[in-house]
Amino acid sequence: MNGLTAFIGILVLAALCKAFSLSVGVFIRKRLEDRARRDAPPTPPKPTRRPGFYHCPNCKCILEEVTIEDKVRNGCKGCGWVHWDNPLPVAVAVIPYGKGLVFVRRKVEPRAGFLALPGGFVEKEGLEAGAVREALEETGLEVAVDRYLKSVYLERVNQILVFFLMKPATGQKLKAGSDATECVFLNPPYDHEKMAFPTHEAVINEYLAQRQG
Ligand SMILES: [Zn+2]
Repeated sequence: MNGLTAFIGILVLAALCKAFSLSVGVFIRKRLEDRARRDAPPTPPKPTRRPGFYHCPNCKCILEEVTIEDKVRNGCKGCGWVHWDNPLPVAVAVIPYGKGLVFVRRKVEPRAGFLALPGGFVEKEGLEAGAVREALEETGLEVAVDRYLKSVYLERVNQILVFFLMKPATGQKLKAGSDATECVFLNPPYDHEKMAFPTHEAVINEYLAQRQG
């Protein structure tokens, strides 16, 4: 009996020790957190800023609203840099192939799996050169620009799509680039449900109407 009492006593003692060490740990952690909070510098007030880039690319200051020529833009009060927010130009190639046009099936979002005209952002080049390069990269076709078709501004993404009609590529082999699952030539009419972008579709329809007229 004495042995059992002693055993229970040891258990109770062990439990008390554990509870004590836990509460000491909690107490110390809380004191450290309080000190860290007290020593932290005060949070500066957030400057007013339009949506977009957060930091100045020159000096890394946080951008703030600046008014230039009656328009509010984001700017840097440290070095004077202004985010003009110019639209990005995208060159798009309309490539005739037989009686139809060349399409790529997109591998990446947006609109993965849907059909689009070959095209992309220009990079240290003119728009025509961008259309020629994108056509080659995305379809494997070596095509020259025939003529400018039209441009469309997309406000939602702040991009200008510039469409070029390319010289026919009939006879050349199609080879899909890395951002397409396949590259195909299709004869009209084109199924709206399979098209990636309404803008591409509208320009195609306009071009086909011109070609028939
Ligand atoms: Zn700056």
